[in-house]
Amino acid sequence: MSNNNIPRWNLDSLYPSLDSKEYKNDLSELENTFSLLQDMLNKADKNNFPEWLNSYINLLNKESSLLKTLQAFAYIIYSTDTTNPLFMNNLNKMDDYDAQSTQLYIKFSEILAENKDKLENFYKKYPEKKEYSYLLNEIIEDKKHQMSAAEEALASKMSHTGSSAWSLLQEQIISNLKDENGKTFNELRNDANEASPELRKKSWEKEIELLAQNRIAFGAALNNLKGEKIALNEKRGWKEGIDNALFNSRLSKNTLNALIGAIEDSLPMWRKYFQAKAAILRKNGLTQSKTAGTKEHPGIAFYDLFAPVEKPNALGNSNSLISKKWTFKEACDYVVDEYNSFSKNMGDFAKNAIENQWIDAEVRPGKVGGAYDEDFPKGHQSRILSNFTGTFSDIITLAHELGHAFHFSCIKNKAPLFFNYPMTLAETASTFAETIVKQDMIEKSQGNDRMKILDLDLTDASQVLVDILCRFYFEESVFQARKSSELTADDFCRLMQEAQEKSYGNGLNDEKTADGKNYTERHEYMWAVKSHYYIPELDFYNFPYAFGQLFAAGLYQRAKKEGSDFAKTYEMLLSQTGSMSCEELCLKAGFDITKKDFWKSGIEMYAKEVEEYCKF
Ligand SMILES: [Zn+2]
Repeated sequence: MSNNNIPRWNLDSLYPSLDSKEYKNDLSELENTFSLLQDMLNKADKNNFPEWLNSYINLLNKESSLLKTLQAFAYIIYSTDTTNPLFMNNLNKMDDYDAQSTQLYIKFSEILAENKDKLENFYKKYPEKKEYSYLLNEIIEDKKHQMSAAEEALASKMSHTGSSAWSLLQEQIISNLKDENGKTFNELRNDANEASPELRKKSWEKEIELLAQNRIAFGAALNNLKGEKIALNEKRGWKEGIDNALFNSRLSKNTLNALIGAIEDSLPMWRKYFQAKAAILRKNGLTQSKTAGTKEHPGIAFYDLFAPVEKPNALGNSNSLISKKWTFKEACDYVVDEYNSFSKNMGDFAKNAIENQWIDAEVRPGKVGGAYDEDFPKGHQSRILSNFTGTFSDIITLAHELGHAFHFSCIKNKAPLFFNYPMTLAETASTFAETIVKQDMIEKSQGNDRMKILDLDLTDASQVLVDILCRFYFEESVFQARKSSELTADDFCRLMQEAQEKSYGNGLNDEKTADGKNYTERHEYMWAVKSHYYIPELDFYNFPYAFGQLFAAGLYQRAKKEGSDFAKTYEMLLSQTGSMSCEELCLKAGFDITKKDFWKSGIEMYAKEVEEYCKF
């Protein structure tokens, strides 16, 4: 435990340190496995292909387990101490392992594609391997989008000084930005949730000032990252940036179009919500904006998007669950109780995760912002990073990340190759966990608290649907524009403004500067803040969250109808997420996700909330 009993995690059951015997053993074990795989690839036997493939898959599981564990470990220790040269070097070393693994993978996919007519025979001989068929077919499909082995090797090596390096730069700048008083960038961003209208506005101004000071570096990073990706996509035969992302998400274009279409149809409802919130803030004297929420400019100021709403007579009510400052212990107990209300398995899981010190929640300089869950095949355990400040949304974050970890625990009986599930389904598990907490809270609350929790839910959902649509538009336009020219910070700001207008529209304050060129109260630097845009392997990182949000809403409604029986179905669903396409998996639970109607049913839940909210 550290200050205020906000914990740092305990890593002993992973590795005591980088110098430890355990760590060094696993490194050499991994290197050993690499050479065994290489040997097998050299001696691939076409005449005894089923036997060969069977042994190869077994060894591949071992490689996958070691590599995933070592990589995740390298990342998590770095992420809490981003300027530590030892941790940075270690993280770079993982890139080399990754490159080796990719080399082996490329060779394997060649052999697999050459021998695909022997697969039927393989499954006949090894029926227990039938469950690998989706993965093996995926590898054969992926083969069509590979450059030659030598080109892939070079691309992977060059990425260390290219895309991966640009990505690290963005992360390092963000985690080391501070204001004059030593307040970190993430603390400034957290102020968006604060009750004080002055503080929200001041921190937003400071945030933009700090970003603008580094605009050249951010712009260069994003420009070069996307430039590299476009060149590679072209070489690999992906027509559009999104095609690669869809393949990685195990999702069809039809499904994406249905999802995006449903969100676009719901935009008028979301804008109504933003305007209602702006009006509530204005009416109760809770905004510093001169124009937001007025007749001429009905939209909300960007810095008020996360503002807590209050009725004036309820201010200072310290009994409220939503506005009080939570201790970490209270937050944990609350999440465990809520999980228990859905299933004992889920509740017990969260309790164990907390007791085993899997969570690093303390805010400190040098640590990355936001939150994540990392899963480790070694000992089948997870670690969760968050930046806990005691707000209600920190509890939701905790529920979200523990939901990811619970997902991983449901897959315990599968082989390591099934641990790689697409983000779409990963985000469903975490959002479902969030939904349990929030919906229960709405049900239990009344009056001012009810307004506040509805607002919190709608804020989160609108971030996941409207803001993610905005990010989707932005990224699409970046890919389009970057094809024909280099892009600067100015371009990114312009494209972000356009994307915000297309998604939020007059839900955000539309007041402009005197020259009519810029909006006065929006955030044209969001492209510099969100690290998602800077992850080399993950374009269009964001739509899976929208998928998860609406799919989780659908699952939640099912859970309410079916009661405790649904917990079993849910765990079964999670346990199979690594083995098939999203469409196939969702059909198993009775959902046709290629249809817009399905996604609209998820939005229904929020439409009802907006309707009630507008009456406050
Ligand atoms: Zn998540």
